[in-house]
Amino acid sequence: MSWDLEVDVAVAGGGACGVMTALRAAQDPDLVVAVFERSTREGCNAAISSGSLAAGGTRFQRAAGIVDSPEQHATDILAASGDHEWGDIVRALCAVAPEMVEWLADELGYPVEIGADMPRAGMSVPRLHTDVGRHGGGRLMAHLRAALEGLPNVAFVDEAPVVDLVVDDGTVTGLVVEQNGARQRVRAGAVVLATDGFAASPALMAEHCGDLGHPFYGGVATATGSAVPWLHALGARFRNMGACLRSGLVVVDHGTRVSPALQFNGAVLLDADGRRFVDEEAHGYSSMAGVLRAQPGERAAMVWDAEAMAATRHSEMMRDCLAAGAIRDLPDLPALAAALGVAADTLAAALEPLPGRRRLAAPYHLAWVTHGVLATQGGVVVDTAGRVLGGDGEPVPGLYAGGGTVCGLAGPSSDGYSSGNGLLAAFGFGWIIGDRLAGRVDAGPASQRSARLRSTS
Ligand SMILES: Cc1cc2nc3c(=O)[nH]c(=O)nc-3n(C[C@H](O)[C@H](O)[C@H](O)COP(=O)(O)OP(=O)(O)OC[C@H]3O[C@@H](n4cnc5c(N)ncnc54)[C@H](O)[C@@H]3O)c2cc1C
Repeated sequence: MSWDLEVDVAVAGGGACGVMTALRAAQDPDLVVAVFERSTREGCNAAISSGSLAAGGTRFQRAAGIVDSPEQHATDILAASGDHEWGDIVRALCAVAPEMVEWLADELGYPVEIGADMPRAGMSVPRLHTDVGRHGGGRLMAHLRAALEGLPNVAFVDEAPVVDLVVDDGTVTGLVVEQNGARQRVRAGAVVLATDGFAASPALMAEHCGDLGHPFYGGVATATGSAVPWLHALGARFRNMGACLRSGLVVVDHGTRVSPALQFNGAVLLDADGRRFVDEEAHGYSSMAGVLRAQPGERAAMVWDAEAMAATRHSEMMRDCLAAGAIRDLPDLPALAAALGVAADTLAAALEPLPGRRRLAAPYHLAWVTHGVLATQGGVVVDTAGRVLGGDGEPVPGLYAGGGTVCGLAGPSSDGYSSGNGLLAAFGFGWIIGDRLAGRVDAGPASQRSARLRSTS
């Protein structure tokens, strides 16, 4: 069999999971790591994400007086998803999350802060970490890729989509990369699939998520599920393919999203007749998408006031909305009623606070919101080390996967998605897989041999 290139670790996809895998694997200076990225121009979901990192038990939380732990984090995720069969995976990811967030700050110099002002449904304490300045995932990914550039044993190859795996008698021995129209066969001791999910594939979405209707798509064009056919060919098992990270906070005609913290700062949702139809705090943004889909016109008016605006306007989502002109300002109740086309007394009744909530005060802000899909959550079955499991339930030799390629943490329904799950599964598996390949965890002699191609062949 002829090869064009040989490396120890070949990573397909240079987004959140792929970059973290490479950063951690490269800690072993004897490993040669190559990341093959389809196109940084087209982008990864991590770079357009809010960059909110869920972790329980960090020093950032302790400094803010927040008592939390990986166990509590896992309990919250499982309470939302109900997917106890996936409990070991959830616990494994939550276990590495605090060290990972602290490493980002302490070793990589990323300006991390705890988002004490970022309440989310189902989160028993504040545990979303973000960047000081709230620039979101673009800043995070730029920081991580810059860190990767400084490593002598890593090559980041851009505009190089992976188009297939090379499998020899059930063992994954490499991958096929396309560059400038030519195909190259890359031999690797370990292959890591980090190509994300399939939300940008109309065919796979119709097959697995057709019940979501025709949502706005808020993710990147590269999430086409390229790994799905390769994994099918290996006989790998998939789970929860109908679940997505949805958002019920997409602004109609703009595609920006309002902050999920608005609904915890008094924002009210009204239907087309100006009536309140939901307890806004009872739903996370993913589950709220289903609620909005059931509304006439699949939309609702979100109304909030200056106090809620002050509490959220520094988030990258609200800055995007303001820059896009997606938020209307109305001076008083009659003006708001006119903008909504409803009677002022109907509106006044709808804005009566629910028990224990505060009353909104004029002037008001208004945005029409609808439902969208940001990313899929179904994917391939792996073990807690990120090894892809074959149809027989045993690891496929030489093959790992993480992030959106893998079955996520939402459970069988999009309603089970907890804020921060996406990057937790991406960075968390990258951390676990990379450390294992670098020999930082006891993975047994066979695994070390398989990653270190050069020393054994
Ligand atoms: C708008 C938005 C906001 C979000 N906000 C948050 C948040 O605040 N917190 C959170 O936890 N999650 C958030 N998420 C979810 C999170 O971004 C994803 O779960 C996460 O990025 C998945 O990581 P990944 O590494 O699997 O995929 P990505 O980060 O998307 O990276 C995948 C990479 O693989 C590349 N690729 C694809 N196919 C191939 C191929 N065949 N060959 C080579 N390369 C390929 C892509 O180009 C891409 O660079 C958000 C998502 C969206 C869309």
